[in-house]
Amino acid sequence: MSHVIRFLISMAALVAFATVESEGQPMSDEFLIAIHGGGGVRSRAAMTPELEAGYRAALRAALEAGHDVLSGGGNSISAVEAAIRVMEDSPLFNAGKGSSYNAEGVHELDASIMEGATLDAGAVAVVQRVKNPITLARRVMENSPHVMLAGDGALEFGKEQGVDIVAPHYFFTQRKWDSLQRRLDQQTEFGKPTSRDSDDQLDPGLYGTVGAVALDKNGNLAAGTSTGGREGKHPGRVGDSPIIGAGTYAKNATLAVSSTGLGEYVIRIGGTKTMSDLMEYRGVSLDEATNAVKDMIEEMGGSIGVVAIDRQGNLSMPYSFNGMYRGYVRQGGDYVVLIYDE
Ligand code: ASP
Repeated sequence: MSHVIRFLISMAALVAFATVESEGQPMSDEFLIAIHGGGGVRSRAAMTPELEAGYRAALRAALEAGHDVLSGGGNSISAVEAAIRVMEDSPLFNAGKGSSYNAEGVHELDASIMEGATLDAGAVAVVQRVKNPITLARRVMENSPHVMLAGDGALEFGKEQGVDIVAPHYFFTQRKWDSLQRRLDQQTEFGKPTSRDSDDQLDPGLYGTVGAVALDKNGNLAAGTSTGGREGKHPGRVGDSPIIGAGTYAKNATLAVSSTGLGEYVIRIGGTKTMSDLMEYRGVSLDEATNAVKDMIEEMGGSIGVVAIDRQGNLSMPYSFNGMYRGYVRQGGDYVVLIYDE
């Protein structure tokens, strides 16, 4: 074979390889869902067996709800919504029912959801009386021409949409109320833990945002996040959780990710979108992208935890805290629920 022909064949092979590469790696044909229930957990010493069992059961129930959707052929966005609704309905997490109070003792909830196939997204911020903000965020995405609605307008839209609206008292939990009183008494700086109880209990008002990411059988990614926001926040404060590209992002070409941590840090570097950009434009892996952003946040003096997956079924769940309530289940796999470095 002449040098010229050999050269032409190798060029053709290179072009073919480049074409396959540009379409991305083959996607997984198996579904996967991963969740978090907030970064920052009670120390092992302060964790009672009952409370730990409660957290593990709630995380497992959320995974089961998402798994049921995916195993029944449902899409990733429905799985994300289903899993988050379970955590919103639990008093254990800082979302929905168990939301933290703002500085005036009022609940103002934030949530967002995003589809990786279309980049469609919906979000609600500073919304009151909506039992499941993640569902309202999805309605904004699907039934309005907008991406984000806030405050009274979001509540009015929720009523029009027929989502569950509850009395403010629904969101009362003694634990979160006591935590707010401690914060106000101690005049603790926003975003910082109050002095801990003698049993080294982690400030229950500060942590517990929830999130989910899913990959369905069609290879589509979705992500969502829901929170009561940081305890003691100024009325009207919006964190990262309802902001697309900060607390939540999903793009089939890169990843689906939900984050937890003090929003004032994550917003400023567009944390989850930066992860996506690193993968798309720098070609880094899922794990490298999530850890790079974690490093950036830590250099700023903040902390972050994420659950992230890609279309190939890779999973990354780094966090800056002493632990993060989290879990995942793959098609045909075991349910995995984790709290500490375990
Ligand atoms: N990201 C949430 C916020 O800043 C809080 C959290 O995840 O702990 O509102």
